[in-house]
Amino acid sequence: MCGFIGIYGPKESDVALEIYEGLLAVQHRGQDAAGITTFTDSFHVKKGLGLVRDVFNEKNMPRLRGSLGVGHVRYPTVGAGTDEDVQPFHMVFPFGVAMAHNGNVTNFLELKERLGLSGVRISSSCDLEVILYVFARGLEERIKPGSKILPEDVFFAVKKVFAEVKGAYSVVCILADGAMVAFRDPFGIKPICFGEKRTEEGVWYACASESVVLDVIGYKKTLDIGAGEAIYIGSDRKILSRKLTDKPHRPCIFELVYFARHDSMLDDISVYKTRRRFGEALADQWLASRAPMPDVIIPIPDSSREAAMAMAERLGLPYREGLVKNRYIGRTFIMPSQAARTNGVRRKLNTIPLEFDGKNVLLVDDSIVRGTTSRRIVHMARAAGAKRVYMAITSPPLVSPCPYGIDMATKTEFVANGRTNQQITEAVDADYLLYIDRERMNAAARVGNPKIERFCNACFTGEYPTGDVTKEMLESIAGERCEAQGQVKSDEVSVRVRVPVK
Ligand code: AMP
Repeated sequence: MCGFIGIYGPKESDVALEIYEGLLAVQHRGQDAAGITTFTDSFHVKKGLGLVRDVFNEKNMPRLRGSLGVGHVRYPTVGAGTDEDVQPFHMVFPFGVAMAHNGNVTNFLELKERLGLSGVRISSSCDLEVILYVFARGLEERIKPGSKILPEDVFFAVKKVFAEVKGAYSVVCILADGAMVAFRDPFGIKPICFGEKRTEEGVWYACASESVVLDVIGYKKTLDIGAGEAIYIGSDRKILSRKLTDKPHRPCIFELVYFARHDSMLDDISVYKTRRRFGEALADQWLASRAPMPDVIIPIPDSSREAAMAMAERLGLPYREGLVKNRYIGRTFIMPSQAARTNGVRRKLNTIPLEFDGKNVLLVDDSIVRGTTSRRIVHMARAAGAKRVYMAITSPPLVSPCPYGIDMATKTEFVANGRTNQQITEAVDADYLLYIDRERMNAAARVGNPKIERFCNACFTGEYPTGDVTKEMLESIAGERCEAQGQVKSDEVSVRVRVPVK
């Protein structure tokens, strides 16, 4: 997962500072690298590894002039990415285009090869580069270099991208002709929203991967770009939108479960309210399954807080903050090896023993992936004096890898794979474990926007909405992951495609 923002400000405005502020608001979507590209009569670029606050400073920000710009924060799915892969990417010939995205292209190698045959040398291992070139090739089919790019040319090029590029992606780009373009993959798996604000200088347009970005820089969210839809804003500042495919909308449910900030709205669904509804559903399930009543409910910070609170209210039990997170340590998944991850948990969380001592505690978390964190936290709870440790999880068991850009685990790494609920309970060393029912989870999310018929549930079911995810593709991801973690690969994990770095 990554985060991005694009802004088209009034003439003579500078958008870099707002992009910087916006990137800070989506820092949770990627802490590995950051970049901003703006345009005046040429592109101005600053990119680097690290957090937004580390990459930009008083020296490089003034260079980033112009009323058109894009920014990006990167979340590497496996291993640490290199400088060459830091977004945004841009090209100056035959067209001036700068682009950033969130997602993952599943046919990257195939496209790289195809583009190679037509003379395009993809120089990075970032899948955005193939989107950029397929888009540019689409423009090239319609117009001669030097002539003006019209909205219809852009929609044609986006249609090309939708036809050729498989996977899930939300994209924003700026054109040197003076235009901003944003589009969302045919199934709308990745989120992307659009907003505007009016000042004395004129109208400002922005699009971003989460609405929280628009909030913090003072824009009003006006729409979520739909599945297979593209938006074009030219130099006349008119907004044109076009639905270019007719696939069903299948937004990723895991954004609501874990990834997005709880003050964001995704496809008109409040992340905050949805997480509360997950908690209420879990409370009902807890009662229905006659689970043992705890003395206290404690969230595993941060993404399960709302659910734990709502669950406690519904069950009439006290809610307590018994685990304290060190906010200066990044998400533990970012560390490459299992050993580093274990240490990461210890460094990241600490207990307040008085909330555990002598009590039966119910810990609420958003998901169990490998079980490493959960097991460690259960042990911490016991060490803090808990009599019994129960767990409630706001998502069903994770069993299938996500090829759409969420770094989770390979099939064999998921603790739930091939295990019964009792076996998972034992694996994480809890006294009782309850996962939310999948239908209840989806229903809780749909309350926010009943127009969404279904969410992408692939990580829980193995049913991939794009219909083109092959066993080889998943095995190759597994192979890359094992390699990155220094593990020995099994024979079946021999076909290597690539692991996205973005
Ligand atoms: P574990 O018990 O080791 O499987 O870790 C589960 C924890 O990882 C949960 O607390 C989640 O909040 C978190 N988590 C789930 N998915 C991801 C992800 N894609 N990246 C980082 N952390 C995640």
